[in-house]
Amino acid sequence: MTSILNGTRFMYIEPLPAGESLPKFNTCAGLRCKILHFGQPKNNHILQCTNCWKTGHTKSICKNDSCCKVCQKPGHLPGQKECPHYEVQKHIAPFSGSQDVLSNFYPCELDIYGVKHKSAEHAFQYTKAIRCGDLDAASKITAAEDALSAMRLGKKIKTNEQWNATKEAVMEEIIENKSVQVKLFQEKIRSAKQSTTFVETTYNDEWGSGLDRTGTINTKQDKWPGKNTLGTIIKKVAKKVRKRKLSDNAPKAQKQNREQAKQRNIVDMLKTLRAASDSDASGCNPDSESSESEGET
Ligand SMILES: [Zn+2]
Ligand SMILES: [Zn+2]
Repeated sequence: MTSILNGTRFMYIEPLPAGESLPKFNTCAGLRCKILHFGQPKNNHILQCTNCWKTGHTKSICKNDSCCKVCQKPGHLPGQKECPHYEVQKHIAPFSGSQDVLSNFYPCELDIYGVKHKSAEHAFQYTKAIRCGDLDAASKITAAEDALSAMRLGKKIKTNEQWNATKEAVMEEIIENKSVQVKLFQEKIRSAKQSTTFVETTYNDEWGSGLDRTGTINTKQDKWPGKNTLGTIIKKVAKKVRKRKLSDNAPKAQKQNREQAKQRNIVDMLKTLRAASDSDASGCNPDSESSESEGET
């Protein structure tokens, strides 16, 4: 180290054992340092290789054979008969993509807390933006042509712990609203058998099965690498829809009005804050249909 206390230092280190990386932050000569190196994980999540599915390294530095994501053995893909967890699933409703009404990507008009959205994905990403205080992102998401664009905009939002703790409840609220406002969705989940497992067949390990359609259908449910959180929420809402059909739709409206008022207060508060810190801001009104700010492609 030198006597100059800031700036970038380049260091040569011995190659790290396979699967290991240096911490992102450490203390060196009494100073807190940020450490960057090739093959280092991008965030603090557990790093998983998408080639061999072992943890601790990325695909870019993997020297192992390509493996099945379900059993982590080489020579086959998930859902092929060679996989020890192969089994054709009977009581599942797999879905993905904008053509399927069960998917959040399905284009439909949704009114959530008084804001109109073009899909459930738009509604979810917009709420994320608002709750994380990113009004620019919120207005861009509202203006986004399709759900994929809305999702991409949403991925750039810097989230906070509060959002992570409440996002599943937000998703459930949106799916419930979809079950009231989108008749085709309502019919589809209401007519499914009670034992049906809804499952989003995407590589997303949080909301989906973590597998493609073939892999999902032909793998035992308890071996799906993803948590299928969205499918679980739809199942829960489907149960409510069946009950609601019996005792009719009444109780929701009041609660929604209260929530709507609460959400508006947050929007107003953020607007005031923003106006105060950025006196000549333009085109950042999350309620406006079109935004003056630069478009995303
Ligand atoms: Zn690997
Ligand atoms: Zn396998």
